[in-house]
Amino acid sequence: MIRTHALVFVAALMTGCSSAPPERQVIDDAAAALGGASRIQALTSLHVTGSGLAPNAGQNRLPDDELPVWKVTEHSRAIDLTNGRTRVQQVREAQFQFAGATTQRVSQGLDGVVAYNAAPNGTLNRAGEAAVRERRVELLHHPTTVVRAALDPAATLANPRTEGGLQLVDITTALGDTVTLAIDQSTHLPSKVISMSDNANMGDVAIVTTFSDYEDVDGVKLPRRLTTMMDKYLQFDLQVSKNAVNGDVAALAVPADVKSASVPTPPPVVVTVEPVAKGIWWLAGSGNHRSVVFEFDDHLVLYEVPLNEARSKAVIDKARTLSTKPLTTAIVSHHHFDHSGGLRVAVAEDLTIVTHRANEAFFKDLLARPHTIVPDALQMSPKSAKFEWVDDQMTLKDKSMEVRLYHLLDNPREGTNLYAYVPRERMLVQADLYDAGWNQHLWGENVLTNLTQRKLKIDRDVPVHGVIEPFDQMVKTIKAKPTIAGTN
Ligand SMILES: [Zn+2]
Ligand SMILES: [Zn+2]
Repeated sequence: MIRTHALVFVAALMTGCSSAPPERQVIDDAAAALGGASRIQALTSLHVTGSGLAPNAGQNRLPDDELPVWKVTEHSRAIDLTNGRTRVQQVREAQFQFAGATTQRVSQGLDGVVAYNAAPNGTLNRAGEAAVRERRVELLHHPTTVVRAALDPAATLANPRTEGGLQLVDITTALGDTVTLAIDQSTHLPSKVISMSDNANMGDVAIVTTFSDYEDVDGVKLPRRLTTMMDKYLQFDLQVSKNAVNGDVAALAVPADVKSASVPTPPPVVVTVEPVAKGIWWLAGSGNHRSVVFEFDDHLVLYEVPLNEARSKAVIDKARTLSTKPLTTAIVSHHHFDHSGGLRVAVAEDLTIVTHRANEAFFKDLLARPHTIVPDALQMSPKSAKFEWVDDQMTLKDKSMEVRLYHLLDNPREGTNLYAYVPRERMLVQADLYDAGWNQHLWGENVLTNLTQRKLKIDRDVPVHGVIEPFDQMVKTIKAKPTIAGTN
Protein backbone atom coordinates (compact mmCIF):
# COMPACT_ATOMS: atom_id res chain seq x y z
CA MET A 1 0.00 0.00 0.00
CA ILE A 2 2.66 2.47 1.09
CA ARG A 3 4.91 1.23 -1.66
CA THR A 4 2.23 1.83 -4.31
CA HIS A 5 1.64 5.34 -3.02
CA ALA A 6 5.32 6.16 -3.25
CA LEU A 7 5.50 4.89 -6.81
CA VAL A 8 2.47 6.92 -7.84
CA PHE A 9 4.05 9.97 -6.21
CA VAL A 10 7.36 9.50 -8.03
CA ALA A 11 5.56 8.90 -11.30
CA ALA A 12 3.53 12.06 -10.80
CA LEU A 13 6.69 14.04 -10.10
CA MET A 14 8.39 12.73 -13.21
CA THR A 15 5.31 13.44 -15.31
CA GLY A 16 5.25 16.92 -13.78
CA CYS A 17 8.83 17.58 -14.83
CA SER A 18 8.66 16.26 -18.33
CA SER A 19 5.23 17.63 -19.08
CA ALA A 20 5.92 21.33 -18.39
CA PRO A 21 4.39 22.90 -21.48
CA PRO A 22 7.16 23.49 -24.04
CA GLU A 23 6.67 27.28 -23.96
CA ARG A 24 7.16 27.22 -20.17
CA GLN A 25 10.17 24.94 -20.54
CA VAL A 26 11.94 27.54 -22.69
CA ILE A 27 11.54 30.16 -19.95
CA ASP A 28 12.52 27.74 -17.18
CA ASP A 29 15.63 26.74 -19.13
CA ALA A 30 16.55 30.38 -19.76
CA ALA A 31 16.08 31.28 -16.09
CA ALA A 32 18.21 28.30 -15.00
CA ALA A 33 20.97 29.26 -17.44
CA LEU A 34 20.98 32.87 -16.17
CA GLY A 35 21.47 31.79 -12.55
CA GLY A 36 18.15 30.30 -11.47
CA ALA A 37 14.58 31.62 -11.42
CA SER A 38 14.69 32.55 -7.74
CA ARG A 39 17.98 34.45 -8.18
CA ILE A 40 16.58 36.34 -11.19
CA GLN A 41 13.36 37.15 -9.35
CA ALA A 42 15.22 38.30 -6.25
CA LEU A 43 17.26 40.90 -8.16
CA THR A 44 16.27 44.43 -7.25
CA SER A 45 18.24 46.45 -9.76
CA LEU A 46 20.57 46.40 -12.71
CA HIS A 47 23.04 49.00 -13.90
CA VAL A 48 24.67 48.71 -17.32
CA THR A 49 27.39 51.11 -18.42
CA GLY A 50 29.35 51.11 -21.64
CA SER A 51 29.87 52.72 -25.01
CA GLY A 52 29.06 51.94 -28.61
CA LEU A 53 27.86 52.98 -32.02
CA ALA A 54 24.41 54.22 -32.99
CA PRO A 55 23.90 54.63 -36.76
CA ASN A 56 21.23 56.90 -38.23
CA ALA A 57 18.90 54.91 -40.52
CA GLY A 58 17.58 56.78 -43.55
CA GLN A 59 20.27 59.47 -43.50
CA ASN A 60 22.99 57.97 -45.68
CA ARG A 61 24.41 59.78 -48.71
CA LEU A 62 22.94 57.26 -51.15
CA PRO A 63 20.19 54.76 -50.28
CA ASP A 64 22.67 51.84 -50.17
CA ASP A 65 25.61 53.67 -48.61
CA GLU A 66 26.83 53.07 -45.08
CA LEU A 67 24.79 54.90 -42.48
CA PRO A 68 26.14 57.99 -40.75
CA VAL A 69 27.13 57.01 -37.22
CA TRP A 70 26.89 58.54 -33.77
CA LYS A 71 29.66 57.37 -31.48
CA VAL A 72 28.11 56.82 -28.06
CA THR A 73 30.98 57.73 -25.76
CA GLU A 74 29.01 57.23 -22.54
CA HIS A 75 25.99 55.01 -22.02
CA SER A 76 24.39 54.33 -18.66
CA ARG A 77 21.15 52.47 -18.06
CA ALA A 78 19.91 51.99 -14.50
CA ILE A 79 16.89 49.76 -13.92
CA ASP A 80 14.82 49.46 -10.77
CA LEU A 81 13.46 45.96 -11.38
CA THR A 82 11.14 46.01 -8.38
CA ASN A 83 9.30 49.20 -9.32
CA GLY A 84 9.53 49.19 -13.12
CA ARG A 85 11.72 52.27 -13.37
CA THR A 86 14.59 53.03 -15.69
CA ARG A 87 16.81 55.90 -16.70
CA VAL A 88 19.13 56.08 -19.69
CA GLN A 89 21.85 58.69 -19.94
CA GLN A 90 23.99 58.97 -22.99
CA VAL A 91 26.57 61.22 -24.64
CA ARG A 92 26.99 60.88 -28.39
CA GLU A 93 29.30 62.47 -30.93
CA ALA A 94 28.53 62.76 -34.64
CA GLN A 95 31.03 60.84 -36.77
CA PHE A 96 29.65 62.46 -39.91
CA GLN A 97 29.12 65.97 -41.25
CA PHE A 98 26.18 67.23 -39.25
CA ALA A 99 24.54 70.65 -39.29
CA GLY A 100 23.25 70.49 -35.70
CA ALA A 101 25.07 70.03 -32.39
CA THR A 102 27.76 67.41 -32.98
CA THR A 103 27.94 66.40 -29.30
CA GLN A 104 24.60 65.60 -27.73
CA ARG A 105 23.48 64.48 -24.28
CA VAL A 106 20.38 62.34 -24.00
CA SER A 107 18.74 61.63 -20.68
CA GLN A 108 15.36 59.99 -20.45
CA GLY A 109 13.43 57.74 -18.16
CA LEU A 110 10.37 55.76 -17.29
CA ASP A 111 8.66 55.27 -13.95
CA GLY A 112 5.65 53.00 -14.35
CA VAL A 113 3.23 54.86 -16.62
CA VAL A 114 5.23 58.10 -16.56
CA ALA A 115 7.87 58.70 -19.22
CA TYR A 116 10.07 61.78 -19.00
CA ASN A 117 12.96 63.52 -20.72
CA ALA A 118 15.66 65.64 -19.10
CA ALA A 119 16.39 69.03 -20.65
CA PRO A 120 20.08 70.06 -20.91
CA ASN A 121 19.65 72.13 -17.70
CA GLY A 122 18.43 69.02 -15.85
CA THR A 123 14.72 69.90 -15.80
CA LEU A 124 12.55 66.82 -16.25
CA ASN A 125 9.60 67.08 -18.63
CA ARG A 126 6.86 64.51 -18.90
CA ALA A 127 6.79 62.68 -22.26
CA GLY A 128 3.75 61.35 -24.14
CA GLU A 129 2.02 57.98 -24.17
CA ALA A 130 3.98 56.71 -27.18
CA ALA A 131 7.20 57.11 -25.19
CA VAL A 132 5.77 55.07 -22.29
CA ARG A 133 5.01 52.07 -24.46
CA GLU A 134 8.20 52.35 -26.49
CA ARG A 135 10.43 52.54 -23.40
CA ARG A 136 8.58 49.72 -21.63
CA VAL A 137 9.18 47.45 -24.64
CA GLU A 138 12.76 48.65 -24.99
CA LEU A 139 13.30 47.68 -21.34
CA LEU A 140 12.40 44.09 -22.26
CA HIS A 141 15.36 43.96 -24.66
CA HIS A 142 17.62 42.53 -21.94
CA PRO A 143 17.87 38.90 -20.76
CA THR A 144 17.13 39.72 -17.11
CA THR A 145 14.07 41.88 -17.69
CA VAL A 146 12.53 39.66 -20.35
CA VAL A 147 12.94 36.46 -18.33
CA ARG A 148 11.58 38.15 -15.19
CA ALA A 149 8.59 39.37 -17.19
CA ALA A 150 8.03 35.87 -18.58
CA LEU A 151 8.23 34.29 -15.10
CA ASP A 152 5.42 36.58 -13.91
CA PRO A 153 2.33 34.35 -13.48
CA ALA A 154 0.28 37.06 -15.21
CA ALA A 155 2.34 36.72 -18.42
CA THR A 156 1.18 34.42 -21.20
CA LEU A 157 3.53 32.26 -23.23
CA ALA A 158 2.75 30.95 -26.69
CA ASN A 159 3.99 29.53 -29.96
CA PRO A 160 7.13 27.62 -28.89
CA ARG A 161 9.25 26.78 -31.91
CA THR A 162 12.76 26.00 -33.07
CA GLU A 163 14.56 28.08 -35.71
CA GLY A 164 18.22 27.87 -36.66
CA GLY A 165 19.57 26.41 -33.42
CA LEU A 166 17.37 28.67 -31.29
CA GLN A 167 14.24 27.96 -29.31
CA LEU A 168 11.69 30.75 -29.54
CA VAL A 169 8.64 31.63 -27.50
CA ASP A 170 6.22 34.55 -27.73
CA ILE A 171 5.64 36.40 -24.46
CA THR A 172 2.76 38.72 -23.63
CA THR A 173 3.68 40.51 -20.44
CA ALA A 174 1.34 41.31 -17.57
CA LEU A 175 1.15 44.84 -19.01
CA GLY A 176 0.12 43.51 -22.44
CA ASP A 177 3.39 44.07 -24.34
CA THR A 178 4.40 41.35 -26.78
CA VAL A 179 7.97 40.22 -27.47
CA THR A 180 9.64 37.05 -28.69
CA LEU A 181 12.49 35.50 -26.73
CA ALA A 182 15.01 33.25 -28.48
CA ILE A 183 17.34 31.09 -26.41
CA ASP A 184 20.38 29.11 -27.48
CA GLN A 185 19.49 25.43 -27.84
CA SER A 186 22.65 24.20 -26.14
CA THR A 187 23.50 26.85 -23.51
CA HIS A 188 19.86 27.92 -22.96
CA LEU A 189 21.09 31.51 -22.53
CA PRO A 190 18.87 34.18 -24.09
CA SER A 191 20.22 34.85 -27.56
CA LYS A 192 17.87 37.60 -28.65
CA VAL A 193 14.65 39.48 -28.04
CA ILE A 194 12.43 40.53 -30.93
CA SER A 195 9.65 43.10 -30.84
CA MET A 196 7.61 44.52 -33.71
CA SER A 197 7.28 48.26 -34.19
CA ASP A 198 5.97 50.81 -36.66
CA ASN A 199 8.34 53.09 -38.55
CA ALA A 200 6.86 56.03 -40.50
CA ASN A 201 8.89 55.17 -43.62
CA MET A 202 9.42 51.42 -43.33
CA GLY A 203 6.15 50.36 -41.74
CA ASP A 204 6.33 47.06 -39.86
CA VAL A 205 9.86 46.58 -38.57
CA ALA A 206 11.38 43.98 -36.28
CA ILE A 207 13.55 45.40 -33.50
CA VAL A 208 16.00 42.63 -32.65
CA THR A 209 18.52 42.80 -29.81
CA THR A 210 21.16 40.07 -29.80
CA PHE A 211 22.99 39.24 -26.54
CA SER A 212 26.50 37.88 -26.43
CA ASP A 213 29.70 37.68 -24.43
CA TYR A 214 27.95 36.67 -21.16
CA GLU A 215 29.78 37.17 -17.86
CA ASP A 216 28.97 36.12 -14.31
CA VAL A 217 28.11 38.94 -11.90
CA ASP A 218 27.19 37.83 -8.37
CA GLY A 219 25.79 34.55 -9.62
CA VAL A 220 23.83 36.05 -12.52
CA LYS A 221 24.79 35.77 -16.18
CA LEU A 222 24.73 39.15 -17.93
CA PRO A 223 25.68 40.01 -21.53
CA ARG A 224 28.61 42.31 -22.22
CA ARG A 225 27.42 43.03 -25.72
CA LEU A 226 23.93 44.03 -26.87
CA THR A 227 23.40 44.64 -30.57
CA THR A 228 20.09 46.09 -31.72
CA MET A 229 18.92 46.04 -35.33
CA MET A 230 15.87 47.77 -36.78
CA ASP A 231 14.99 45.60 -39.74
CA LYS A 232 18.24 45.45 -41.74
CA TYR A 233 19.77 48.52 -40.09
CA LEU A 234 22.07 48.51 -37.08
CA GLN A 235 20.51 50.76 -34.47
CA PHE A 236 22.80 50.40 -31.46
CA ASP A 237 25.85 48.26 -30.80
CA LEU A 238 26.59 48.45 -27.06
CA GLN A 239 29.84 47.23 -25.57
CA VAL A 240 29.30 46.92 -21.82
CA SER A 241 32.15 48.06 -19.60
CA LYS A 242 30.36 47.26 -16.34
CA ASN A 243 27.35 45.22 -15.28
CA ALA A 244 26.23 45.72 -11.68
CA VAL A 245 23.28 44.30 -9.74
CA ASN A 246 21.34 45.30 -6.63
CA GLY A 247 22.75 48.82 -6.38
CA ASP A 248 20.87 51.81 -5.02
CA VAL A 249 18.19 52.98 -7.45
CA ALA A 250 16.17 55.28 -5.20
CA ALA A 251 17.01 58.19 -7.54
CA LEU A 252 15.01 56.57 -10.35
CA ALA A 253 11.66 57.55 -8.81
CA VAL A 254 10.14 60.31 -10.90
CA PRO A 255 9.59 63.57 -8.93
CA ALA A 256 6.01 64.26 -7.86
CA ASP A 257 5.67 67.38 -10.02
CA VAL A 258 6.55 65.44 -13.18
CA LYS A 259 4.23 62.61 -12.18
CA SER A 260 1.31 65.00 -11.68
CA ALA A 261 2.00 66.96 -14.88
CA SER A 262 -0.53 66.38 -17.66
CA VAL A 263 0.44 63.94 -20.40
CA PRO A 264 1.56 65.93 -23.43
CA THR A 265 -0.19 65.14 -26.68
CA PRO A 266 1.55 65.48 -30.05
CA PRO A 267 1.15 69.03 -31.39
CA PRO A 268 -1.49 69.41 -34.11
CA VAL A 269 -0.35 69.53 -37.75
CA VAL A 270 -0.74 73.10 -38.99
CA VAL A 271 -0.18 74.07 -42.62
CA THR A 272 0.00 77.79 -43.41
CA VAL A 273 0.06 79.30 -46.90
CA GLU A 274 2.39 82.09 -47.93
CA PRO A 275 2.27 83.25 -51.55
CA VAL A 276 5.87 83.92 -52.59
CA ALA A 277 5.39 84.78 -56.28
CA LYS A 278 2.73 84.48 -58.94
CA GLY A 279 1.60 80.84 -58.89
CA ILE A 280 4.05 79.81 -56.14
CA TRP A 281 3.09 79.16 -52.52
CA TRP A 282 5.23 78.23 -49.49
CA LEU A 283 3.39 75.85 -47.17
CA ALA A 284 4.83 76.20 -43.66
CA GLY A 285 3.14 76.04 -40.24
CA SER A 286 4.02 73.53 -37.52
CA GLY A 287 7.47 71.97 -37.51
CA ASN A 288 10.44 72.81 -39.73
CA HIS A 289 9.63 70.85 -42.91
CA ARG A 290 7.98 73.04 -45.52
CA SER A 291 6.68 72.39 -49.01
CA VAL A 292 6.27 74.53 -52.13
CA VAL A 293 3.42 74.49 -54.67
CA PHE A 294 3.92 75.51 -58.33
CA GLU A 295 0.95 76.35 -60.58
CA PHE A 296 1.23 75.26 -64.21
CA ASP A 297 -1.34 75.77 -67.05
CA ASP A 298 -3.62 72.96 -66.04
CA HIS A 299 -2.15 71.37 -62.92
CA LEU A 300 -0.26 71.92 -59.67
CA VAL A 301 3.09 70.43 -58.66
CA LEU A 302 4.22 70.00 -55.05
CA TYR A 303 7.89 70.12 -54.01
CA GLU A 304 8.35 67.91 -50.93
CA VAL A 305 6.07 65.49 -49.06
CA PRO A 306 7.99 65.42 -45.77
CA LEU A 307 8.08 63.63 -42.42
CA ASN A 308 5.14 61.25 -42.38
CA GLU A 309 1.63 60.60 -43.61
CA ALA A 310 -0.02 63.13 -41.24
CA ARG A 311 2.16 66.07 -42.33
CA SER A 312 2.15 65.19 -46.02
CA LYS A 313 -1.60 64.51 -46.22
CA ALA A 314 -2.27 67.90 -44.61
CA VAL A 315 0.10 69.55 -47.11
CA ILE A 316 -1.54 67.75 -50.07
CA ASP A 317 -5.01 68.75 -48.85
CA LYS A 318 -3.90 72.37 -48.42
CA ALA A 319 -2.30 72.45 -51.90
CA ARG A 320 -5.63 71.34 -53.37
CA THR A 321 -7.37 74.40 -51.88
CA LEU A 322 -5.06 76.81 -53.73
CA SER A 323 -6.54 76.34 -57.19
CA THR A 324 -9.23 74.45 -59.06
CA LYS A 325 -6.43 72.84 -61.09
CA PRO A 326 -5.63 69.29 -59.99
CA LEU A 327 -2.52 68.48 -57.99
CA THR A 328 -0.80 65.84 -60.11
CA THR A 329 2.82 65.61 -59.05
CA ALA A 330 5.05 65.42 -55.99
CA ILE A 331 8.76 66.12 -56.29
CA VAL A 332 10.60 64.20 -53.54
CA SER A 333 13.81 66.19 -52.99
CA HIS A 334 15.81 63.21 -51.72
CA HIS A 335 15.60 59.86 -49.93
CA HIS A 336 16.42 60.94 -46.36
CA PHE A 337 13.62 59.62 -44.16
CA ASP A 338 12.37 63.01 -42.98
CA HIS A 339 12.06 64.12 -46.62
CA SER A 340 10.52 60.95 -48.06
CA GLY A 341 8.07 60.21 -45.22
CA GLY A 342 5.16 61.30 -47.44
CA LEU A 343 6.11 59.10 -50.41
CA ARG A 344 3.47 56.48 -49.64
CA VAL A 345 0.62 58.91 -49.06
CA ALA A 346 1.56 60.80 -52.24
CA VAL A 347 1.19 57.54 -54.19
CA ALA A 348 -2.07 56.78 -52.35
CA GLU A 349 -3.26 60.24 -53.44
CA ASP A 350 -2.46 59.37 -57.08
CA LEU A 351 0.43 61.81 -57.46
CA THR A 352 3.23 61.09 -59.90
CA ILE A 353 6.56 60.98 -58.04
CA VAL A 354 9.46 62.95 -59.50
CA THR A 355 12.77 62.08 -57.86
CA HIS A 356 16.38 61.16 -58.57
CA ARG A 357 16.91 57.85 -60.34
CA ALA A 358 19.26 56.63 -57.58
CA ASN A 359 16.17 56.33 -55.35
CA GLU A 360 14.43 53.81 -57.60
CA ALA A 361 15.09 50.52 -55.79
CA PHE A 362 14.85 52.11 -52.33
CA PHE A 363 11.54 53.87 -52.99
CA LYS A 364 10.00 50.83 -54.68
CA ASP A 365 10.93 48.82 -51.61
CA LEU A 366 9.40 51.41 -49.25
CA LEU A 367 6.19 51.32 -51.30
CA ALA A 368 6.01 47.51 -51.20
CA ARG A 369 6.54 47.12 -47.45
CA PRO A 370 3.65 46.10 -45.20
CA HIS A 371 2.28 48.73 -42.80
CA THR A 372 -0.07 46.53 -40.75
CA ILE A 373 0.83 47.71 -37.23
CA VAL A 374 -0.22 51.27 -38.03
CA PRO A 375 -2.06 50.88 -41.35
CA ASP A 376 -1.50 53.86 -43.66
CA ALA A 377 -3.50 54.97 -46.71
CA LEU A 378 -1.43 52.88 -49.14
CA GLN A 379 -1.77 49.78 -46.94
CA MET A 380 -5.53 50.21 -46.85
CA SER A 381 -5.95 50.84 -50.58
CA PRO A 382 -2.87 49.70 -52.49
CA LYS A 383 -2.01 51.59 -55.71
CA SER A 384 0.81 51.24 -58.18
CA ALA A 385 3.21 54.15 -58.26
CA LYS A 386 3.92 56.43 -61.22
CA PHE A 387 7.49 57.69 -61.30
CA GLU A 388 9.48 60.13 -63.38
CA TRP A 389 13.19 59.66 -62.79
CA VAL A 390 15.63 62.55 -62.93
CA ASP A 391 19.29 62.01 -63.75
CA ASP A 392 21.28 65.24 -64.00
CA GLN A 393 18.40 67.65 -64.60
CA MET A 394 14.79 67.98 -65.72
CA THR A 395 12.70 70.98 -66.78
CA LEU A 396 8.97 71.19 -66.09
CA LYS A 397 7.64 73.92 -68.35
CA ASP A 398 4.50 75.32 -69.94
CA LYS A 399 3.17 78.81 -70.62
CA SER A 400 2.46 79.51 -66.94
CA MET A 401 5.49 78.12 -65.14
CA GLU A 402 9.02 76.87 -65.60
CA VAL A 403 10.71 74.85 -62.85
CA ARG A 404 14.14 73.36 -63.44
CA LEU A 405 15.31 70.49 -61.26
CA TYR A 406 19.02 69.92 -60.76
CA HIS A 407 20.92 67.09 -59.11
CA LEU A 408 23.23 68.40 -56.35
CA LEU A 409 26.66 67.10 -57.31
CA ASP A 410 29.57 65.85 -55.20
CA ASN A 411 27.97 66.64 -51.86
CA PRO A 412 29.29 64.74 -48.83
CA ARG A 413 25.83 64.26 -47.23
CA GLU A 414 23.29 64.58 -50.02
CA GLY A 415 23.80 62.09 -52.85
CA THR A 416 20.30 62.05 -54.37
CA ASN A 417 19.30 65.66 -53.74
CA LEU A 418 17.25 67.58 -56.35
CA TYR A 419 16.87 71.31 -55.88
CA ALA A 420 14.55 73.51 -57.96
CA TYR A 421 15.12 76.79 -59.77
CA VAL A 422 12.43 79.12 -61.10
CA PRO A 423 14.12 81.34 -63.76
CA ARG A 424 11.30 83.92 -63.97
CA GLU A 425 11.54 84.62 -60.24
CA ARG A 426 15.29 83.91 -59.91
CA MET A 427 14.19 81.68 -57.04
CA LEU A 428 15.95 78.71 -55.46
CA VAL A 429 13.78 76.02 -53.81
CA GLN A 430 15.80 73.50 -51.82
CA ALA A 431 15.89 70.96 -49.01
CA ASP A 432 19.00 70.39 -46.88
CA LEU A 433 21.28 72.56 -49.01
CA TYR A 434 20.99 75.29 -46.41
CA ASP A 435 18.98 76.26 -43.34
CA ALA A 436 19.66 79.67 -41.79
CA GLY A 437 19.20 78.05 -38.36
CA TRP A 438 21.92 75.41 -38.68
CA ASN A 439 24.89 75.44 -36.29
CA GLN A 440 27.35 75.05 -39.14
CA HIS A 441 27.26 74.91 -42.93
CA LEU A 442 29.71 72.13 -43.54
CA TRP A 443 28.65 71.59 -47.16
CA GLY A 444 27.78 75.24 -47.87
CA GLU A 445 30.74 75.77 -50.22
CA ASN A 446 29.74 72.68 -52.18
CA VAL A 447 26.24 74.12 -52.56
CA LEU A 448 27.55 77.48 -53.80
CA THR A 449 29.86 75.69 -56.25
CA ASN A 450 26.90 73.70 -57.59
CA LEU A 451 24.80 76.84 -58.09
CA THR A 452 27.68 78.63 -59.82
CA GLN A 453 28.40 75.67 -62.11
CA ARG A 454 24.73 75.59 -63.13
CA LYS A 455 25.02 79.35 -63.91
CA LEU A 456 21.93 80.17 -61.85
CA LYS A 457 21.07 83.81 -61.16
CA ILE A 458 19.38 83.66 -57.76
CA ASP A 459 17.65 86.43 -55.81
CA ARG A 460 15.82 84.42 -53.17
CA ASP A 461 16.04 81.12 -51.30
CA VAL A 462 12.70 79.44 -50.53
CA PRO A 463 13.71 76.50 -48.33
CA VAL A 464 12.13 73.36 -46.91
CA HIS A 465 13.96 74.07 -43.60
CA GLY A 466 14.19 77.55 -42.10
CA VAL A 467 13.14 80.92 -43.41
CA ILE A 468 12.87 82.60 -46.81
CA GLU A 469 15.94 84.75 -47.30
CA PRO A 470 17.56 86.94 -49.96
CA PHE A 471 20.23 84.83 -51.64
CA ASP A 472 23.02 87.22 -50.73
CA GLN A 473 22.15 86.67 -47.06
CA MET A 474 22.43 82.91 -47.59
CA VAL A 475 25.85 83.36 -49.22
CA LYS A 476 26.97 85.64 -46.39
CA THR A 477 25.92 83.13 -43.73
CA ILE A 478 27.71 80.27 -45.48
CA LYS A 479 30.87 82.34 -45.92
CA ALA A 480 30.78 83.62 -42.34
CA LYS A 481 30.87 80.11 -40.91
CA PRO A 482 33.71 78.44 -42.73
CA THR A 483 33.40 74.91 -43.98
CA ILE A 484 35.38 72.48 -41.86
CA ALA A 485 36.33 70.01 -44.53
CA GLY A 486 36.28 66.36 -43.55
CA THR A 487 35.15 67.06 -40.01
CA ASN A 488 34.64 63.91 -38.03
ZN1 LIG B 1 19.04 65.37 -46.28
ZN1 LIG C 1 16.32 67.90 -43.92
